[in-house]
Amino acid sequence: MRIDIVTIFPEYFGPLGVSLIGKAAERGEITFAVHDLRHWTHDVHHTVDDAPFGGGPGMVMKPEPWGEALDAVVEQGVRRAAGQGQSPAAGQVQAEAVGRGQPPLLVIPTPSGVPFTQRRAVAYAAEPWLIFACGRYEGIDARVADDARSRLRVDEVSIGDYVLAGGEPAVLVMTEAVCRLLPGVLGNVASVADDSFGAGGGPMAGLVEGPSFTRPRLWRNLEVPPVLLSGDHGAIARWRRDEALKRTARNRPDLIRKLAPAQPDVAGVSRDTPRSPLNDHDRSVLSEAGFPVTGEDVAH
Ligand code: SAM
Repeated sequence: MRIDIVTIFPEYFGPLGVSLIGKAAERGEITFAVHDLRHWTHDVHHTVDDAPFGGGPGMVMKPEPWGEALDAVVEQGVRRAAGQGQSPAAGQVQAEAVGRGQPPLLVIPTPSGVPFTQRRAVAYAAEPWLIFACGRYEGIDARVADDARSRLRVDEVSIGDYVLAGGEPAVLVMTEAVCRLLPGVLGNVASVADDSFGAGGGPMAGLVEGPSFTRPRLWRNLEVPPVLLSGDHGAIARWRRDEALKRTARNRPDLIRKLAPAQPDVAGVSRDTPRSPLNDHDRSVLSEAGFPVTGEDVAH
């Protein structure tokens, strides 16, 4: 996978060289290229912002440097894919996609975008080439995304219902979530399948993961739940699902509401999380924990 990032703060992306993702980049499985937007300005002050049309507070990022930057990054990528300066694995995947005529996916972080979810991370992990455009100030002139849509696929994506000062931390969050899903990046592939949200349809589909424990068995007078020491894999799996249900109901009741009722489908319920229908045992676990779930609850 190749990831191009355009920003006015290239130094923000030092952490991409650290830990599992840094190692995957060293092995050539991911190629990161960070570009300074100011490189595509033409005035002495390298201006990237201007006052908003229509008035109002703050500044807006100008379209011209963004247009030139994205044109250049795409053009360089296509040329590179045609054979110059490839890093082994990442470059080959990108080259094949370009060869098939598949344009890169441009991701523009913005609080007004569609939510970034585990499901979206899985979809992005299958992309050979992502370009991230980091906004600052009040964001990027809207025509930049409209213009890019004429030749690229464009997603405007939010990492949560809060407002950051810039797109850089959002891009770090998304690249980490995406890159850890790439083959060979995590030491233990099974941990992805068991993760919260279970975007791949694992046992946690639609749920957050329950608690985890390690040695020692007794710590500060707190014991590890005995079932985890029983060696009974069926009982352990059931316990893990029960705990996941309880924790999800407590911390994320919105996810419980999205789970399909056992029989009828519910119109209007978000399909962003894969379905994991609640069976009678699940319902009784939730009910005992004080979270009764009926078809009616799910509908609201
Ligand atoms: N005026 C914008 C609004 O209210 O929607 C907020 C702009 S914010 C101060 C500046 C930049 O930070 C955005 O262009 C975007 O790149 C980034 N940003 C802020 N919050 C974000 C979020 N929740 N998700 C993704 N990017 C975000």
